[in-house]
Amino acid sequence: MKVLIVGAGVVGITTAYYLRADGHEITVIERQTGAGLETSFANAGQLCRYTARPWAAPSVPSMIIREFGRADAPFLVHLRADPAMWRWLAKFLLQCRDSKHQTTRSNLMRIAVHSANLMDELVKTENVNFNHERNGVLHLFRNQKSLDHATDEERHVEDPEARGEALNRDGCIAIEPALAQNPSQFIGGIFHRHEQTGDAHRFTKELSKLLKTRGVIFRYGVNAQQILSKGNRVSGLSTDQGVIESDAVVISAANSSAQLLNSAYPKLPIYPVKGYSITVQTSGFNGAPKIGIQDHSRKIGFSRLGEQLRAAGTAEFGARDGAPDHARIEALCNQTRILFPGAGEFETAKTWAGLRPMTPDGAPIVGRTKWKNLFVNTGHGSLGWSLACGSSHIIADVVSERTPAIDLTGLTIDRFA
Ligand SMILES: Cc1cc2nc3c(=O)[nH]c(=O)nc-3n(C[C@H](O)[C@H](O)[C@H](O)COP(=O)(O)OP(=O)(O)OC[C@H]3O[C@@H](n4cnc5c(N)ncnc54)[C@H](O)[C@@H]3O)c2cc1C
Repeated sequence: MKVLIVGAGVVGITTAYYLRADGHEITVIERQTGAGLETSFANAGQLCRYTARPWAAPSVPSMIIREFGRADAPFLVHLRADPAMWRWLAKFLLQCRDSKHQTTRSNLMRIAVHSANLMDELVKTENVNFNHERNGVLHLFRNQKSLDHATDEERHVEDPEARGEALNRDGCIAIEPALAQNPSQFIGGIFHRHEQTGDAHRFTKELSKLLKTRGVIFRYGVNAQQILSKGNRVSGLSTDQGVIESDAVVISAANSSAQLLNSAYPKLPIYPVKGYSITVQTSGFNGAPKIGIQDHSRKIGFSRLGEQLRAAGTAEFGARDGAPDHARIEALCNQTRILFPGAGEFETAKTWAGLRPMTPDGAPIVGRTKWKNLFVNTGHGSLGWSLACGSSHIIADVVSERTPAIDLTGLTIDRFA
């Protein structure tokens, strides 16, 4: 079957990978000049197998109010007349109830474990180099109440493989000696030994090159404009370079997905939530961590990517555009330098901002739509790097008429229809 994929981010490229493996003829269209140049470009690099959690959690509404207006607030809401943002925030706040949080958490866990298993398989079978590390991720806590809460949550995790290990300050330093540089910044942590890290952009770029050798057609610099439909089927897409016909279409266009799907699903709640990263050169320095770190209260993730340290995080709602804001970057740089003063050359750090395609519950939208040959793989928000292989494999299952390997409850587009 001829399948047209819109978007060459990590989600679109992994979709192409699994569909091509099923023998379909694939064309990927992408408005940028290459693969992985938008949200997949410089994220925190963490591949969550057991720690893929929704942002919408009971503690978040009070955190937003408490930290309101601070340049370094983990969640920053700009007061703007943006009806889409307020509509989305209202839906997000409803998802913060404990019952909703727990439901989404178990939906995310299902797809994250599936995705991690597939990533392990892909790494074994393909020659794709992306500074992949399996050193685990340590979640750091700054106050006893949050550490006690997290420790208690881990005690309730049934599968011992998935359970994080609670550590005091010395235990954290024993696992990651770079933390000895400023131990006053944390009181303990939870170590998740199965979590991994890697460079999402490098992975996306390398996998796209491999797919080219397997016959996948890439059309860069092409902007998809509209889905062409007849009855309950689509016939292709109109683009700024003419019509492209196809037997099936997959929308993996992140924040543009809602606009492309508007005629079938008006006002699909995918909202661009801005985040930032810095990438610091570590060669010649000894103070960068080797394992993945999550600073829980600041919502910053750190990953070692070869000779670089990536620090990324924070969430900004209602940003005017995708450009980096100087104060937010400065705050991220300071927080990294405080925790790891000897990590590398902060003065020459590369800075970046990206727009997470967020749904209110934090789960992606995966599967078939009401138009039989139109499929969606989008809305991965803060977890697209972790979930890409899993959600894309599901798309291949659905397009090829197989029963998906996992239950899709809470992951399909019906929940917003
Ligand atoms: C600061 C930050 C830190 C993060 N950290 C992590 C992390 O540690 N772990 C994790 O799992 N996730 C993380 N994420 C989330 C992750 O990066 C995203 O979920 C993921 O990159 C989304 O991938 P995507 O392919 O859907 O989107 P994108 O990479 O944005 O790809 C979509 C592509 O579609 C193209 N496109 C859009 N519209 C059109 C159109 N009309 N025509 C043609 N092409 C089009 C775009 O140009 C783009 O290339 C982080 C995100 C941010 C911002």
